[in-house]
Amino acid sequence: MEQKQANGSHKKTEMKKDDLIVITGAGGFIGGNLTKYFHDRGFTRIRAVDKKPFEEWYVHTPGVENLRLDCNGEEACKRACDGAVEVYNLAADMGGMGFIERFRVECLRSVLINTHMIEAAHQAGAQRYFFSSSACAYNVLLQQDPNVRALKESDAYPAMAERGYGWEKLISEMFCQEYWAERGLKTFIARFHNVYGPYGTWDGGREKAPAAICRKIVEAVDNGTDSIQIWGDGGQTRSFMFIGDCVKGIDLIMHCDDLIATPINLGSSELVSINELVSKVERIAGIKLRRQYDPTAPRGVGGRNSDNTFIKQVLKWEPNTTLDVGLRHTYEWITTQYSDRKQGKHVVA
Ligand code: NAD
Repeated sequence: MEQKQANGSHKKTEMKKDDLIVITGAGGFIGGNLTKYFHDRGFTRIRAVDKKPFEEWYVHTPGVENLRLDCNGEEACKRACDGAVEVYNLAADMGGMGFIERFRVECLRSVLINTHMIEAAHQAGAQRYFFSSSACAYNVLLQQDPNVRALKESDAYPAMAERGYGWEKLISEMFCQEYWAERGLKTFIARFHNVYGPYGTWDGGREKAPAAICRKIVEAVDNGTDSIQIWGDGGQTRSFMFIGDCVKGIDLIMHCDDLIATPINLGSSELVSINELVSKVERIAGIKLRRQYDPTAPRGVGGRNSDNTFIKQVLKWEPNTTLDVGLRHTYEWITTQYSDRKQGKHVVA
């Protein structure tokens, strides 16, 4: 793998096309897309791991070794990491605001996954280890105003993370930093800001705002309804990163030695309100709906955006797919899923 370094020079890492890459959470959204990304780049030995039954995986990439393992346990993680050169830990019990505000214990218990995975990766002699952290690790007091100042990496401390989910991410980040400091494992930590796109959760309670809004508008078009329900007052702001940028960013971060054990934002800096997000999807669908606001529904923090100063400085790159372009792909994909399901075909929601 060749990589342009911050100083403009190219540094070749030791990764060979037949080195074993292990990806956990591969039955899920980001892990599934990442598996396909590496396969499409010619990597021939990829092990995809998830606890879900195979028929519930979003992506099945040909030629990949698929394992069904519950990575909450030590033995499963040893099996997952056996022979690994690079390990990408994308497994977590998570979902959108509706899930993480309600199921804090499940979110906290994901600490077991990273705890066992990083130890197993170290014992297996893996060269690099990636952890998927989140913007929910940031201090919530900095995110109350919709006109929010974008969050920079140093804003995680003094710590006041999202209860449950955010604290699990912070402690797992610390594991990654200490495995580098004390045991010499090269670890990489990306703080994702809302990721969206095809092959991800779009129904059932774990979906995030872009998928939920696309689905509601697809339903409205199909049923002829003239209204849409919106969580909160629609004024809360977020940035949303397209999945294609996310998997590219993971690859760039994992292979940049300047970022060892250094948390970095991986997110878009295009800030929109939920109302604006709805308007964008309405334009794609060619429809205008009456908005019904639910002030009792989970709404999360008032505003959150990614400060991309650091990633631009180190990688000379930032996620750059516009929301209009990414939403169009997502809307089309959800439309197909919705109509396939309606016709009785097997789809994973
Ligand atoms: P996802 O729910 O689609 O995928 C996670 C996968 O992990 C699921 O398929 C699930 O079955 C699997 N999993 C859960 N517990 C497991 C276990 N014990 N053993 C094995 N597999 C297990 O979620 P995603 O959106 O793909 O998220 C991937 C990672 O990125 C997670 O760590 C998540 O916290 C992080 N993240 C995602 C977002 C986002 O917007 N999607 C934002 C911030 C951080």
